[in-house]
Amino acid sequence: MIYKYDDKNNMKDFVDREKILSLLKNQVEPDIEEIKEICEKSLQISDALSIEDVSKLIAVSNPDTLELIYNYAAKIKNKVYDNRIVVFAPLYAANLCVNNCLYCGFRSENREAIRKVLSMDEIKKETEVLAGEIGHKRLIFVVGESPLTGAEYIADSLKTIYSVKVKTRRGVSSIRRVNVNAAPMSVEDLKLIKNAGIGTYQVFQETYDKELYKKLHPPKTPKADFNYRLYAHHRAFEAGIDDVAIGALFGLGDWRFEVLGLVTHARELEKVFGIGPHTVSFPRLEKACASDYSGVSISDDEFKKIVAILRISIPYAGLIVTCREKPEVIREVIPFCTQRDASTRIGIGAYSERYSKQALERQQFELGDTRTLEEVIGELADLGYITSFCTAGYRCNRTGDHIMKMLKSGRESRFCKLNAILTFREWLEDFASDEIKNKCELLIEKEIEDVFKDSDRFSPKLKKMLIDYYEKIKKGERDLYF
Ligand code: SAM
Ligand code: SF4
Repeated sequence: MIYKYDDKNNMKDFVDREKILSLLKNQVEPDIEEIKEICEKSLQISDALSIEDVSKLIAVSNPDTLELIYNYAAKIKNKVYDNRIVVFAPLYAANLCVNNCLYCGFRSENREAIRKVLSMDEIKKETEVLAGEIGHKRLIFVVGESPLTGAEYIADSLKTIYSVKVKTRRGVSSIRRVNVNAAPMSVEDLKLIKNAGIGTYQVFQETYDKELYKKLHPPKTPKADFNYRLYAHHRAFEAGIDDVAIGALFGLGDWRFEVLGLVTHARELEKVFGIGPHTVSFPRLEKACASDYSGVSISDDEFKKIVAILRISIPYAGLIVTCREKPEVIREVIPFCTQRDASTRIGIGAYSERYSKQALERQQFELGDTRTLEEVIGELADLGYITSFCTAGYRCNRTGDHIMKMLKSGRESRFCKLNAILTFREWLEDFASDEIKNKCELLIEKEIEDVFKDSDRFSPKLKKMLIDYYEKIKKGERDLYF
């Protein structure tokens, strides 16, 4: 197959395996001053770190230098995104898969899996629980790869999800943004899901090491084609989808290689399209149903280092930590992250069939954090974070290079704060118990106070609009945003 974006002269893709291996081989403990300089450069946001800089961050093991990295990572996150954490939930719609990835419970040779594809009616029921009972506004729609769940199925599902409106205590709730995690697709197929209203298109490369990739993805399966997957986001841009998400599955191979792979990928998208990834994911391999594949162990300390280095290396990108991780691990990395899921169920149909053992058996792997959204919101509030249900960006055309410029200049953090306040107010009105509501009133008041004190970032007009929208939301109006 010919790849439009390959380097035609020497038929190489953009991941230079030899260079990455050589950088990793020649690592020495860097001086703390040198690391400080690299972190300062990143704090300017607009000045991209080189792969060599990133490999120096990776080489750090001195505890004081590591602490410096963690402090900078938290500072950068706050500068770009303020103290808000966006929450979402996954909607696993089908576990049919033609691939046979050794590490995944959905793989075709797992005879123990009970296969299921949700019908549109079932997707509607799942959405009713997610939007109407839990109070989510943002989903990631997940399917395996199968002719039964291709682009048409995904497009129909998106339309179905967006059509669901549920009456709540004080207003009405619906899902306002659906991101999609699905197999790499052709430009034609991507156009179809773009027209159905996709938010972000997410594809994880799993491993950027081509040799390891070959061992994990058996030949004669579509996923065996490393380059077709590597250029999935390029095709998405060509189809007009300018919010794309990258990721690597940590624990398949050497984590240091994957960090350099992810940063290389981000730099490639910046170079070719002028827009980097909207988000970056770093799932850790979990034990999957009927899989003997155990991979390489990644300690919690290494995991924290990975997330901090990604924050510093791709400062404008959203970073997503998921319920694969245990609460105590999430607490350690949340200062560097922008998004997490909550109230998550990954069995097919598991939100509406929540008491069914079968739905549980249809899940891809085991979860580390099974707390409710309300419990998660309470914990975030204790830690000083405001939970945001904001989905305004793409509806105000703040996507692609527009959002990149806003993020890099620090201007987006203003909108993040205002929309966090408004969407959090909606959730408190519609879904919160009295206990959590009382606890969060103080937090939300403090956020409003912060806005009023900060005349550099917030004009009198913005402040006035905030109060106007806020009061309207209290009276039952919904979906007001900046
Ligand atoms: N089939 C599509 C694909 O492979 O791109 C999308 C769905 S797949 C379920 C989504 C992601 O789940 C994969 O990209 C992979 O990174 C992750 N995954 C697979 N097995 C996993 C495991 N055992 N633990 C954690 N994540 C896993
Ligand atoms: Fe299928 Fe994706 Fe699982 Fe691989 S990771 S078996 S492609 S669902």
